[in-house]
Amino acid sequence: MTLTEPTVPHSPAQPVPLVPSELARGLTVPHGFGDQSLLSPRPDAIRLLGGIPDPSALPLDELREVLGEVWDDGGAAASLQYSGSHGFEGLRGWIAEREGVDPRRILITNGGMHGLSLTVQALVERGGVVAVDNPAYPLFLRTLELVGAGTLPVPVEADGLDVEHLARRLADGARIAAVYTVPDFHNPSQGTLSAAKRAALVELAERYGFVVIADDPYRELRFAGEDQGRRVFFDSAHVVHVNTFTKTLGPGLRLGWLVLPDHLVDTVLRLRNRQDSHSSTFVQTLVQHLLVSRPGWFDATLARARELYRHRAEVLVAELRTQLPGRLTIKPPEGGFFLWPRLTDDAVDPRELHARAAAGGVDYQPGEFFATGPGTDSVRRLRLAYGDRTDDELRTAVGRLAKAFG
Ligand code: PMP
Repeated sequence: MTLTEPTVPHSPAQPVPLVPSELARGLTVPHGFGDQSLLSPRPDAIRLLGGIPDPSALPLDELREVLGEVWDDGGAAASLQYSGSHGFEGLRGWIAEREGVDPRRILITNGGMHGLSLTVQALVERGGVVAVDNPAYPLFLRTLELVGAGTLPVPVEADGLDVEHLARRLADGARIAAVYTVPDFHNPSQGTLSAAKRAALVELAERYGFVVIADDPYRELRFAGEDQGRRVFFDSAHVVHVNTFTKTLGPGLRLGWLVLPDHLVDTVLRLRNRQDSHSSTFVQTLVQHLLVSRPGWFDATLARARELYRHRAEVLVAELRTQLPGRLTIKPPEGGFFLWPRLTDDAVDPRELHARAAAGGVDYQPGEFFATGPGTDSVRRLRLAYGDRTDDELRTAVGRLAKAFG
């Protein structure tokens, strides 16, 4: 054969079709959560939709300063070069000190979703079963498509995952590769896993040999109540702690980290190395410089952010109580970005309410989008996100919601 003779006859009129892989063909398109067609058509619609930080809480001015400092210090050229898969040493060291773990256990990622998909790919066998929050953050379920995993829904209570329910299922013979839960300011249901349940969950993971995927993006945003602790997670060889700077420094940075048990570090590093080599050197340069060169700055910024989100949560709760008296059962949140009120009147159809609200100019996520199985009251809930909405917007949004109730 010469180079001018292709093995497949070339016909521009009938090109040989490309077939996406079975994995790619099996990825679902968003329905429910993330479906843009359900959004309000009104240009002045107010969106209480996502776990989005307020622009005023993000380090816009500081990043401009940091950029200048890095350039003046001669760090510019290196910031455009390759760097190691594990992530910047200084950044890992800064995170490790905050977490109270060995820096070797920190792997820098491109945000929380990346950490979740890496963990799933590293620890869930194709076709395995993962126990998941019910209700759950829907995008985690989509990462499970990467390995064709099945789910075992576990109810989430006011104080987090129902660990006793899981224990009963395991005692009855259920076998799982992992448990996925959001321990602090749950998405969508706003609660926090109690210290006792954290310990019980880790004990189950060690007894039955599965990994706990603790997805914790909101944990720095506590503005009320008591921290329930993370040490129990970091001290176990059966927990992967997934975190991100998305809610504190901005989702556009795409920067996060895993706290891995020591025995998994090399495995996850190798897996990551085959996907994207490393997180952006440029972004790591700026964020590392920001955090390391300004001791105390991160905590001061968080303190201001918590105050802002506490205030917004209070405004939202107060407006709902004033404008919709008796129509919703409300528990004021202790942190994070979500309120998860329940419809009190069973005669209200949640789908019709959602459609009327969208038509009237307010978007929120109906609770049914988050259910991972039967046995919860998610369908009678609303997920209202307040992080990036002003007082006026919250007031107007609740007014529109009140109209939708009729
Ligand atoms: N987990 C949860 C529970 C989240 O709410 C989010 C953000 N909405 C993420 C993970 C994803 O974080 P990131 O944007 O850093 O990928």
